[in-house]
Amino acid sequence: MSYMIMFRGVSRLLRTNPVSGQRSMSQSSLDGKVAIVTASTDGIGLAAAQALGKRGAHVVVSSRRQANVDKAVALLQSQSIRVTGTTCNVGKGEDREKLVQLTVDQCGGIDILVSNAAVNPFFGNILDSTEDVWDKILSVNVKSAFLLTKLVVPHMEKRGGGNIIFVSSVAGYQPMQALGPYSVSKTALLGLTKALAPELAHGNIRVNCVAPGIIKTRFSSALWQNKDVADEFKKQLSIKRIGEPEEIGGTIAFLCSDEASYITGETIAVTGGMSCRL
Ligand code: NAP
Repeated sequence: MSYMIMFRGVSRLLRTNPVSGQRSMSQSSLDGKVAIVTASTDGIGLAAAQALGKRGAHVVVSSRRQANVDKAVALLQSQSIRVTGTTCNVGKGEDREKLVQLTVDQCGGIDILVSNAAVNPFFGNILDSTEDVWDKILSVNVKSAFLLTKLVVPHMEKRGGGNIIFVSSVAGYQPMQALGPYSVSKTALLGLTKALAPELAHGNIRVNCVAPGIIKTRFSSALWQNKDVADEFKKQLSIKRIGEPEEIGGTIAFLCSDEASYITGETIAVTGGMSCRL
């Protein structure tokens, strides 16, 4: 009972206090922050870069191909977003180091890492997958996410804190048919998020994860381009449409903002209501 009275009192205060209203506006701002987003020349990574940039962050975009980097930089610049671009294949150690060094040299530090890159070279029964398939998937999807984190943490500590976001998948909770090794790699990111969060909390670094459902990008085109396949997937959704990359970008920007200041070690499923966990 007394808790209820206290709760009502606090919510009345929040509603009527103009200062608290102003604070919540500025808490979504990422002004002055520097954000690395991997695999950010298309799809979810590009949408995350846009969402962070629109909130004031200087974004560093990258992917394997220079032509894609140039196109993404031009697009973001046309939207008045502060942006730096470089090539980076996240599976290559020298590329990861170049990305981090270039960001520090050109932007003065690092506040945010969105580890978004993933590959899936295999469709089929999991028992048919080879050692090469597992090496590739785990190296790009999991190991590089960890190794990039290790590279950026000292720079975040210098800034007094930061945010790390991993991009997992609904398949990390419920393996998708024919996508066994990929699904397992996405489950590993849920574990990586939980393993890192307590260790990095002392440095004021939050570690969170986003698990998208089916989002309209090139990567997932096999799941939505064919109408019959898309309709079958839509049956599993509460919101009967395929998601848009911007809907993941917005969630990532929220997690990086002060509005999410008490969230760490968490994964947010952004799936249109696809059932994947309790
Ligand atoms: P996408 O639209 O196909 O974009 C892929 C991006 O990754 C491109 O910019 C590509 O550019 C870059 N890239 C590919 N391999 C790379 C590498 N080794 N190193 C660096 N960059 C690389 O893909 P997406 O759907 O946005 O996927 C992004 C993330 O979301 C992935 O982690 C994926 O698993 C996850 N996800 C997607 C969905 C979905 O439905 N779309 C659902 C759940 C999870 P280059 O070709 O120039 O390298």
